[in-house]
Amino acid sequence: MLVLHGIPVSPGFAIGQVRVFHSEDFFSIPAIHIHEDEVPREIARFEEALTKTRAELLGIRRKISNEIGHEHSDIFNAHLLILEDRTLIEDVIQKVREEKVMVERAFSIVVQRYFHAFSQIDDEYLRERVSDIKDIGRRIMRNLMGHEKESLSDLKEPIIIIAHDLSPSETASMDKKNVIAFATDIGGPTSHTAIMARSLEIPAVVGLDRISKEVVNGDTVIVDGTRGDVILDPDTETLDRYNREEKRFIELISELDKLQKLPAKTLDGHQITLSANIEFPDEIPSVLAHGADSIGLYRTEYFYLNRPDLPTEEEQFEAYKTVAEKMAPKEVVVRTLDLGGDKFLSSMELPHEMNPFLGWRAIRFCLTRVDIFKVQLRAVLRASAFGHFKIMFPMISTISEFQKAREILNDAKEELKREGVKIDDQIQVGAMIEIPSAAVISDILAKSCDFFSIGSNDLIQYALAVDRGNEKIAYLYQPTHPAILKLVSQIITNGKKEKKWVGICGEMGGDPIAALLLVGLGIDEISTSAFVLPKVKKAVRSVRFDQLTKMTRKAMRFSTAEEIRDFAEQEIKKMAPDLFAE
Ligand code: PEP
Ligand code: MG
Repeated sequence: MLVLHGIPVSPGFAIGQVRVFHSEDFFSIPAIHIHEDEVPREIARFEEALTKTRAELLGIRRKISNEIGHEHSDIFNAHLLILEDRTLIEDVIQKVREEKVMVERAFSIVVQRYFHAFSQIDDEYLRERVSDIKDIGRRIMRNLMGHEKESLSDLKEPIIIIAHDLSPSETASMDKKNVIAFATDIGGPTSHTAIMARSLEIPAVVGLDRISKEVVNGDTVIVDGTRGDVILDPDTETLDRYNREEKRFIELISELDKLQKLPAKTLDGHQITLSANIEFPDEIPSVLAHGADSIGLYRTEYFYLNRPDLPTEEEQFEAYKTVAEKMAPKEVVVRTLDLGGDKFLSSMELPHEMNPFLGWRAIRFCLTRVDIFKVQLRAVLRASAFGHFKIMFPMISTISEFQKAREILNDAKEELKREGVKIDDQIQVGAMIEIPSAAVISDILAKSCDFFSIGSNDLIQYALAVDRGNEKIAYLYQPTHPAILKLVSQIITNGKKEKKWVGICGEMGGDPIAALLLVGLGIDEISTSAFVLPKVKKAVRSVRFDQLTKMTRKAMRFSTAEEIRDFAEQEIKKMAPDLFAE
């Protein structure tokens, strides 16, 4: 038995057999030896893969040049040059001949050598070519292996997925019935992969460092998504213990769900709106079952992932209409397309960026691709007639971005009205406050926006300069850092001055201690994964608001995240000793 510790990102337990998922990881190709007479076949396979890759690249270059402009297609010229590099090609062929290994192995060794050599070069331009080599290497490897990407959506039996990494789109495509848990080597607590696991209610642990090297298909493991442990080859005693815990966990969840119909109101009558975040319309039954007052964040970009084309206005309209109708009369805050960062379109090969989280993403992408943006806005507006929608724009960093986005929305409204289409003309329009600059100018933004929703996942990432998906620095990802609480407090105060409601839709609100600090700061709404809502509701219902505001004021005087958290925890324990009993 071996226990590995990682970062718990989605609570619950699962015991089952492992399937190791390789997402084009060409660094771990085993050495498979071949006979002398198989060498020509291997070389021919390599040449075929190169030809196929070249045809793919030319196609993509043409598409990018037509769709987003010639300058963006230059990156593929660099890829084509690497593909034609005779030294690289000869090195691979020589390795196959001399070492008699399958070409995948030879190719992976040669590419890694290039990779290493380029990373050492003292020239920024050449060093940057490393990512080009990586991209092109992946593409060739995929063609060499001759298979489409492994699919997680079509599984025959319940399994636990183990991977080095999983992208949000891979996670989103998981077959929820058959993936009973997953665990990865890398990843942080608020990466979209982690958030997706909570939405799908799949227990998950990330940041385990080497789990994908420790297991093979068919191994039995326990994934403990509550504590962050993965237990390989568990003994009978451990299996029994976890079977008992699993039962207790299910009981606990159903106990909490009894709060479903009760309001998120403190003992002295201060009520907040407690809402859920969704990625897909089919999460609505779970949202309602967990007692959400509304949907505080509908991440619409998932509609655009895992598909070969862009969704049409009609398709989007149908999906948004379903959400509006199923939730009515409850509200739904629809966030417009937040692509980029770690969520990439399959239908458009966008240029590779050095810092995708700081790059051409979210509202920045939409304001340059008004054609794509407008299609979505029209669909949302049409669906708004069937329920109660609010619209918000992600990644606002300047007032002019908000104004421009609102103008485009108004154009879409006018178009639809001219066409005689019914819409909710009074629809409120808000901004996500998730970039420190927006927090600092929230006094200015509050005059133009109808509401704010604080995106704490990104706000923490940008304010503390800590990549939300990186397990190595996860210790720095601190929701109770005094800088974060000060920014949040400033946003709430500025919103309230203009009589605008202020919510939070980042994962911070799903942690009962942080949630009570937010209530103490005067937040109007908390929106988080549906799964954790009942716990937050229980916490809110167990305390008095007047005591919370006092506690928060005192907490803000401490200098570190740990001190603030410890202090708040102690105070809450005094106010509600039962809350921490489990
Ligand atoms: C956030 O940044 O806090 C947020 C809610 O949006 P996302 O997690 O989708 O970036
Ligand atoms: Mg965000």
